[in-house]
Amino acid sequence: MAETFDFTLLQTDTGSRARLGRFRTPHGDVHTPAFAPVGTQATVKALDPRDLHELGAELILANTYHLYLRPGADVVAEMGGLHAFMGWDGPILTDSGGFQVFSLAENRKVSDEGVVFGSHVDGSRHTFTPEMAVGVQEQLGADIIMCFDECPEPHDRAYNEEALARTHAWAARCRAAQRRTDQALFGIVQGGVFPDLRQASAEFLVGLDFPGYAIGGLSVGESKAQMHAMLDVVTPLLPEGKPRYLMGVGAPEDLLEGVARGIDLFDCVLPTRLARNAALFTHQGRINIRNAQYARDPAPVEEGCGCYTCRTFSRAYLRHLFKAGEILAARLATIHNVHFLLQLARDMRAAIAEDCFGAFKDEFLAGYPIIPHEVRAANRERRAQSLGR
Ligand SMILES: [Zn+2]
Repeated sequence: MAETFDFTLLQTDTGSRARLGRFRTPHGDVHTPAFAPVGTQATVKALDPRDLHELGAELILANTYHLYLRPGADVVAEMGGLHAFMGWDGPILTDSGGFQVFSLAENRKVSDEGVVFGSHVDGSRHTFTPEMAVGVQEQLGADIIMCFDECPEPHDRAYNEEALARTHAWAARCRAAQRRTDQALFGIVQGGVFPDLRQASAEFLVGLDFPGYAIGGLSVGESKAQMHAMLDVVTPLLPEGKPRYLMGVGAPEDLLEGVARGIDLFDCVLPTRLARNAALFTHQGRINIRNAQYARDPAPVEEGCGCYTCRTFSRAYLRHLFKAGEILAARLATIHNVHFLLQLARDMRAAIAEDCFGAFKDEFLAGYPIIPHEVRAANRERRAQSLGR
């Protein structure tokens, strides 16, 4: 595996823990810090691989749980693996299915062996063990694959202790179960909002010597201050020469704070999901393009944005598409939002290269209003009720 995967630390910022790096995979290089758009069902919703290449995406994520249930990992394998199946020749990361088993599946029963659950699609019963999660990901064939982990509610101390012991035993079993040598298996640090558990988790997983490390179980209801505190505990314990991936995090302010704390990779459904709901990123915060104030607005979504949508269409036209329920609305809005985060990653890399990440971060955050914790929590609650994804 040493020949296939190689993480090179190119530069470290002097004023923060921000790092500039390059992760070599069998399907190309990922320049870090990087944001990976999410293609839950082997498609980044509303975009095709040509769009993704044009946007400069270097890594995309696909969900093991969803693809295992539909169309089935054996179907994907028969079609030549995920890259061939979805027509994307760049690097792919699959999650282990753990997060979805613990957030979407029904009638779950957890034991040390694994998890028995009901499909959210048709209620059929399934079992996931660490060995199976690795086996399914080997059938799917992504470049980066993840250990099967348990994702408990972040504030429940007793449950986090119990779940962490299982997550660690499962990580060792995933490592032992791996057969393919052309996939990098990442360990996942858990431990809720508890610094001592996070520390123990980082130390245990580093002992298993993974080619990369993820931090899971954050951005799931804890405050921003708690997320930052956990990153401050974990990243200094991870090896300098391995990539670090903060799972499921994609708000612009979280990318900046994560990079400042030494994170290299991010993924999130946020830009694509917001886009389909007419919420668009700008450097002055999010706007909802359905609002009446844009009905006769000839300006692009954001002045100076280099994306296809902003180079070509007005706010008035986008608002019209959303009001008329046209499918082009989702596509144009998604292009803009994904571009916004990929451009932010490119800008962060440029700032680290010039050793001025701190100034870049301060300037960005000075103009960007952050959505309060209570509003985010209420939004999350609403999504949970309507069964997101
Ligand atoms: Zn744009």
